[in-house]
Formats: sequence, structure tokens, C-alpha cells
Amino acid sequence: GGPASSSTSSDTPASWDDVGGLHEVKKTLHDTMILPSKMPKLFAKLPLKARSGVLLFGPSGCGKTFAIQTIAAAEKLNCIVVNGPEIFGKYIGQSEQKIREIFERAQAAAPSVVFFDEFDSVAPQRGNDNTGVTDRVVNQLLCYLDGVEVRKDVYVVAASSRPDLIDAALLRPGRLDKAVYCPMPNAEDRAAILMAHLRKVAHNISAEEVIALTSPLQGWSSADLAAVVSTATMRVQQQSIDLSKLRAGLNIQRAGDTDVSGSSASET
Ligand code: ATP
Repeated sequence: GGPASSSTSSDTPASWDDVGGLHEVKKTLHDTMILPSKMPKLFAKLPLKARSGVLLFGPSGCGKTFAIQTIAAAEKLNCIVVNGPEIFGKYIGQSEQKIREIFERAQAAAPSVVFFDEFDSVAPQRGNDNTGVTDRVVNQLLCYLDGVEVRKDVYVVAASSRPDLIDAALLRPGRLDKAVYCPMPNAEDRAAILMAHLRKVAHNISAEEVIALTSPLQGWSSADLAAVVSTATMRVQQQSIDLSKLRAGLNIQRAGDTDVSGSSASET
């Protein structure tokens, strides 16, 4: 049978289907965060320590943050989002203190996942910072990832657009040992992403129409596509979105694109 309960479209619970494309990311997150709790006996027998985390890398706006937040919500894992640069304070010892607090909070909220965005800024190659701050942060992260300060049901997911800058020790087996690329969406992904956002609003557009609309949009990120649906939704207010409104949203987004090409500021 289908889902037992369904209420208004605005408060539908998060689902894996809300994330379009990103098949490899979804599979890895499933294997890392979901499977161990479903098959504890199997995992206890593994000769290697199960991995403690995953690194997602790839261009901005392709769903690294969105995928982890949505999947955590769907699986009722508490998600603690840490913006890399925010952990560095003015005072000596402040960053280490922040890291400690983050993991304590995660442990108290377990099952949980700590998501580090811009991880390259948190954990760059050691030995290049004469204040020693980032080196200490990296060492501390290694401790947590190795479970010296035991983590139970706390997963770590890191995201970066520059994985080459991250200290290599963090990426060794048992740590963030699986790196998954989050690519720009292809034609099929683009349709899936647009569809996923349309499911949350009233509309009368068919899957075929969505495919025809999105297949030519080479170079559009997931964030661009999400914005099209937002624009269309705002324009129709309480009514349902039809194809012409979606097209209008697309044209607005495209016009906006050329405007912002020179600036890196992004608003969400
Ligand atoms: P950044 O590196 O700039 O943080 P990101 O890769 O984390 O970028 P997100 O912030 O996750 O990108 O994506 C921006 C928005 O695009 C999301 O809030 C969501 O609405 C939409 N989006 C991204 N990826 C997907 C996806 N796979 N399916 C559906 N919507 C998506």
C-alpha cells in the first residue's frame, strides 16, 4: 500500500525523493549512516572499522548541503550544520573549544550527523599555519573521527569545493575515507530536481513537460532549478503553477543569471 498518512503539501515530511539525481551520494550516505544501524551484527563482524564519515565535493549549488539535510530529516537524524570558517574565533583555544562543543552537542542529540561545510577551511594541510590553530583543530578532528573520544551514532559529513586542500590524514581509511563527487546535474537529473520541487507545490504540469523544459538547460545547477520553482510559486500565490508560469520563472531566473555573473555574493 501507499503512504498511510498524507496531509497538506506544505508540511510533507522530508524524503529521499526530495533529492533529485546525486545517486552515488545517496547510496554512500545510505551505506554509511543507515545500513550500520539496520544490520548491526554484520557490521560488528567486519574486519575493518566502519567508516566514520563521508566527504562530498564538487561545485557550489549542486546539493551537498541540501542532500545531507534532507536525508538526515527523512531518517530522523539530528543534523548539526557547521559553516567551516565560523569555528575560528579571536582567542587562543576558541576553535578547539568550538569543535568540542559541536561533538558534545552531536553526541547528546544522537543519532546525529555533523555536517562541516567548507571543510577545507577547517582542516587544511597541517604545517602551514604559524599560529598552529588549524593544526590543533585537525588533530582534534582526527581524535573524534578515530573515536578515541567515542562517538556512538554520530556521523560526520564534510563538504568542500577544494578537497585537494584538506589534510590527507583526515581522508585515510576509517575516517572520511569515501569522497563522493556531486556533479552539475545532467538532463535526467535536472528533470528529477525540478520534479522534486514541484511535488511540494500545487501544479498541473506533466512529467513529459518537465523533461522537455529541463533537457536543454545545460549548465544549470540544482540551485538554479530550485529558484525557478520558487519564483513561479511566488507569482501564482495560492493557485497552482501551470507550464506558462514555470516558463516565466525560468526566463526570470535566466535573466537574473546574466546579472549576477560578475558577483560572487549569493543570497538564499
Ligand atoms: P555550496 O557549496 O554553495 O554550499 P551546495 O552544493 O551545498 O552549495 P546546496 O546549498 O545544497 O548546494 O543547494 C542549493 C539549493 O538547491 C538547495 O537549497 C535546494 O533547494 C536546491 N538543490 C540542490 N541540490 C538539489 C537536489 N539534488 N535536488 C533538489 N534540490 C536541490
